[in-house]
Amino acid sequence: MSIQTDDTVHDVIVIGAGPTGLLLAGELATAGARPVVLERTLHPAETPKANGVVGRAAVELRRRGVLRGTGLHVVRPPRFRYGPFTLRLGLLRSPLHILPIPQRRLEELLERRAVGRGAVVLRGHEVTGFEQDATGVTVRVATTDDAEIELRARYLVGCDGVHSLVRNELGIGFPGTTSTGIARIARITIPEHAATRDSAEIVFPGIGRLALFQQNQTEHGSVTIAPMNALDRSAPFDLYIVSSHEERGDAQPTDELSEAELRASLRRVLGADLPFTTAYAARSVVANSRQAECYRRGRSFLAGDAAHIFSAGGSALNIGLTDAIALAETLAAALRGRADETLLDGYQAQRHPAARRALAHTRVQHALETPDETGEVLRGVFAELLKDRAAARRIATLLEL
Ligand SMILES: Cc1cc2nc3c(=O)[nH]c(=O)nc-3n(C[C@H](O)[C@H](O)[C@H](O)COP(=O)(O)OP(=O)(O)OC[C@H]3O[C@@H](n4cnc5c(N)ncnc54)[C@H](O)[C@@H]3O)c2cc1C
Repeated sequence: MSIQTDDTVHDVIVIGAGPTGLLLAGELATAGARPVVLERTLHPAETPKANGVVGRAAVELRRRGVLRGTGLHVVRPPRFRYGPFTLRLGLLRSPLHILPIPQRRLEELLERRAVGRGAVVLRGHEVTGFEQDATGVTVRVATTDDAEIELRARYLVGCDGVHSLVRNELGIGFPGTTSTGIARIARITIPEHAATRDSAEIVFPGIGRLALFQQNQTEHGSVTIAPMNALDRSAPFDLYIVSSHEERGDAQPTDELSEAELRASLRRVLGADLPFTTAYAARSVVANSRQAECYRRGRSFLAGDAAHIFSAGGSALNIGLTDAIALAETLAAALRGRADETLLDGYQAQRHPAARRALAHTRVQHALETPDETGEVLRGVFAELLKDRAAARRIATLLEL
């Protein structure tokens, strides 16, 4: 075992090279700290995840120059999906900012920035445990070439995702709810001759019309479908992202959903076969709404999905990336010598309520999609409220935070 037990090389160990860990490392390095990111996988994951950053984090990324020279832009959409509704925000000065970007591309840009500013990213390094004391944290790491090493630094941050080892080792609870529904998601090819589409809907002979970008509710669940080239201009015209939503029963979420299971689910929900030829990146997910009880224990912190998970899209990256920015400020100040408890607790005081607010919003969206009677009543009330553009804009303002 090789041991590097002083903290003269790195002063913050960041676990996880997802968007949160990579932005945190870039921010810390920019502030003059020496972060090291430990990532268990050798290469960034190929599985498609988020397609964009919604809200304040998009503006923060632009302000930091992350988008410079990439051809990517932050946009202010005139419409935005909120559960089964479309918030009509108006063409002028929409309150919401969105950066359309596949998560993989975002991670590439953030890694390049972090490394360019002096952060170290070590892939193939899985953290297996850690201990903290009055002056720092010692982390045990297993590498892909079977070496075991120890690293020490003054602070540790778990940006290690929803199944966070850091959160578990610190004994921090992750209370919340798990949905009784399941979503099956995939990229599919629908041959041009099998359907006709315009900017708002796609029509399948024998099935009928499905609105694009929105939930299409049926008796047995709902289906959402969107052309990929609306999200990524280089995508082929006949490529779509589709998801079915229905009651979960005994089904377990999986990253390797078979094409047959996807077809069967779509058939149950639509009552007919969706005419797609190929499917890839098929997976199923069960929505969770959970938040870590606290974000700090001693010299160890949580950020991103390790700290919170939301049951509807759009908030996770915004909240996780904004966590990273706030925590980098806290740690940089602590490393400059202001390591008092009030400063260190400031991160949680600022960011815990932000995720709680986002949880409320995502839960409301989830509740609005429930196919039962309560869902129907809620949808009726929201449909009335959202006739008023000011109400839609107010909701968008809250999503932006
Ligand atoms: C299908 C899908 C669609 C999504 N769509 C959206 C969307 O539209 N908008 C949105 O905002 N969000 C979306 N999300 C959520 C978004 O992808 C996550 O919020 C985001 O990835 C969280 O980033 P993170 O850096 O906190 O954690 P992760 O991206 O989970 O990164 C954690 C990293 O830690 C590493 N790691 C874990 N344990 C260890 C260990 N012990 N040692 C070393 N490394 C470790 C993992 O390998 C991983 O690379 C989606 C997610 C999925 C699955």
